[in-house]
Amino acid sequence: METKPKIIKCKDCGKDFEIIKKTRYIRKYCDKCSIKRKKDYENLFTVKFEECDDD
Ligand SMILES: [Zn+2]
Repeated sequence: METKPKIIKCKDCGKDFEIIKKTRYIRKYCDKCSIKRKKDYENLFTVKFEECDDD
């Protein structure tokens, strides 16, 4: 089976990015926003968890 990159539009910055669809979950955010969101979440963990974007 071929692993094709899939183009996803980041829900944070709107930028298109590629993922290789080899994992079960589909990312909603690009690398940059994922890192940022993770840091924000760590900093503010009283914030309600809206999206699970972790692996
Ligand atoms: Zn982004």
